[in-house]
Amino acid sequence: MAKITDVRAALVRVPLDSPTSFSTRRVTARDFVLVRVEADDGHAGIGFTYGGSGGGNITTAAVRSLLRPVLIGEDPFRVEGLWEAMYQESLLQGRTGSAMRALSALDIALWDRNARACGLPLWKLLGGYAKDSVRAYASGGYYLDGKTPHMLADELAGYCAMGFGGVKMKVGRLGLAEEEDRISHARDAIGAADLMLDCNNGWRDLETALRYMAVFEPYSPYWIEEPFLPDDLENHARLAQQTLVPVATGEIESGRWRFQQIIDKGAALILQPDAVCCGGITEFRRIAATAASHGLSVCPHAYHELHVHLAASLPNVPYAECFIDDRIVNFRKLIDTQVTIKDGRLMLPHGPGLGFAYRDDAIEEFAVEAWG
Ligand SMILES: [Mg+2]
Repeated sequence: MAKITDVRAALVRVPLDSPTSFSTRRVTARDFVLVRVEADDGHAGIGFTYGGSGGGNITTAAVRSLLRPVLIGEDPFRVEGLWEAMYQESLLQGRTGSAMRALSALDIALWDRNARACGLPLWKLLGGYAKDSVRAYASGGYYLDGKTPHMLADELAGYCAMGFGGVKMKVGRLGLAEEEDRISHARDAIGAADLMLDCNNGWRDLETALRYMAVFEPYSPYWIEEPFLPDDLENHARLAQQTLVPVATGEIESGRWRFQQIIDKGAALILQPDAVCCGGITEFRRIAATAASHGLSVCPHAYHELHVHLAASLPNVPYAECFIDDRIVNFRKLIDTQVTIKDGRLMLPHGPGLGFAYRDDAIEEFAVEAWG
């Protein structure tokens, strides 16, 4: 039996080349907590989570103080048992937020480690569903100072020219007339491609949401994402009843129970869990299985380097989100191998585990807390 001998975390802060905005926030830098789990069979695995624009140190501390002692000496292949033990140990601090992000990163590292130990790409170890690629949509359409509707349209048309059949833009920051100008330019530019709208928790009441949706609906959005604060499930459900546009949510939710509530309330038709915060690969697959039994789709949030493996191993993932470069989500600056994007699809990696390693030079450049 293999035994876990070492668990380490590092914190990096990666500045954006140009600050970017969505409805509720301006982003200048991103914290990533990186973890590494090693066992005495000679195999190590890596995981990660997003820590926000600051405060990643809380998650780093949760890895080192709270969860490392749970894992040391244990069999790394007992992933379900270790998930349960980490969850139990962090009940007071966790269940969501920073401690659940720490658990998520470690769960990812265990799966990555075990796949490497088996010499398999992670999507194969998880039980492959796709054959060689998965469908992705291009995420973008952010607010930038001086960005006109024409520039937005050019950006989205560029994604379609790369072969993407779906593109996403931000909404909810500006007034009704300005937002209509943006979305009409976007629709003209992309033709019949799927157009996802992301409100990033921008609306506070149903009345406001309905006024905006009345403007957006003629442009046939594919979904409206995170219309309200994550905890305001009532308004998600009311909006879902009053618009034909599917409501999507879940990118910062954690745990299968919360997603069950979303389903029970009819708060969303499309679930968007993110394995870096929902509880790792283990919990993501439970959430996806629950969604499948209710006839619902799962479209994972961001980090296509990770979610390509989940999308490729599950039957109800019609789209994975893809950021084509490092201007918005700059995690890709930290890794040595990028997923190949071809005709709007993510090609399945063939290397063992996640299929990438961390770049030591990048970690050194952006380190806030070195490995420890
Ligand atoms: Mg989003």
